[in-house]
Amino acid sequence: MSGSFPTGVMREALIDRGAIEHNVRQLRAVAKTREFIAVVKADGYGHGALTAARGAIAGGATRLGVADVSEALALRDAGVDHPLLAWLHAPDADFAPALARDVELGVSSVAELQRIAAQAGERPAVVHLKFETGLGRNGIAQSDWHVALAEAARLEAEGRVRVDGLFSHVSGTSREDDLAQVRLFEDAIAAAAAAGLDPSVRHLAATAATIDLPEARFDGVRVGVGVYGLSPFEDRSSAALGLRPAMTLRAPVVAVRRVRAGHGASYGYEHRAERDTTFVLVPLGYADGVPRQASNRGPLRIRGRRFQVAGRVAMDQFVVDVGDVDVAVGDQVVLFGDPLRGAPTATDWADAAGTINYEIVTRIGARVRRSVVE
Ligand SMILES: *Cc1c(COP(=O)(O)O)cnc(C)c1O
Repeated sequence: MSGSFPTGVMREALIDRGAIEHNVRQLRAVAKTREFIAVVKADGYGHGALTAARGAIAGGATRLGVADVSEALALRDAGVDHPLLAWLHAPDADFAPALARDVELGVSSVAELQRIAAQAGERPAVVHLKFETGLGRNGIAQSDWHVALAEAARLEAEGRVRVDGLFSHVSGTSREDDLAQVRLFEDAIAAAAAAGLDPSVRHLAATAATIDLPEARFDGVRVGVGVYGLSPFEDRSSAALGLRPAMTLRAPVVAVRRVRAGHGASYGYEHRAERDTTFVLVPLGYADGVPRQASNRGPLRIRGRRFQVAGRVAMDQFVVDVGDVDVAVGDQVVLFGDPLRGAPTATDWADAAGTINYEIVTRIGARVRRSVVE
């Protein structure tokens, strides 16, 4: 995982595809469901959608999930022919390219169902009806559910659609709130059966419910953050869940400067040297996804020791005050990675910035080179 930087590389996210594969295996064993939908939206949570897809398929994912049709088409263009579901659509979306390439579509309204059916070609459009159980996002409203089911059954009979899935999404507010959503989903499933629909996969749980709420597992789970080895829980680490973080964010030290007591670091001098010390410069900034909110706090590892950001994170870089530790230009700085290898975690950065680990990994910028390690 470590080793030297490729020539000239200054910002690097190492992606451990084997970790993704391991995490899917691990979570499949927890879920014990027939279907495992690995969510690879938002460029595979920043890890690279294709890398994530390949790792997840190797680990046994039966389907892949993305938000946007464009993400699904990019995976098809890259040669991924696995079953693939996209569920968040533009108001005037053109579904024809997705249907032509066997992308399954989440459906959140009767109007959307009708537009998809109208664009179906020779083969029926494969759809998953999304039922709104409480999150207040998309999904077919309870008041429209019976109309949607009747319309879906009619379109199935005409050969224009095939309803292969029913799904919803829980809020993770509390066990009681999630169980209330489970019950509404069960009612929706029963109504679909009564309307003559026979979907093969009913899916409700994302990572947290997959692990903590067996009642939410149904035929399949839709797992995102866990695939990348990150814990969705505040009270349990990835290691406690048997998961391995798949991303290591690192950069080489690009400058070392010995400074006198009182010397400031970065804009606003929010850090000043308490005594004569050494400042080193790390070429990762908020444009690369290092949160500015983690100024003066974000943890790092250099030469096997822990340090933290000194002063403000700037657009391209930040300073570290390493005291009298011998650090040289070219030394590796690890911002986060696998804690079992001594690295801080994406969750540590999330804590330092007042956010969640999801946001840390998905916001890694385009300037950071992704290098896949097997
Ligand atoms: C992003 C997303 C998921 C995955 O959630 P995780 O918490 O990352 O497992 C599942 N379902 C839907 C609808 C999503 O938008």
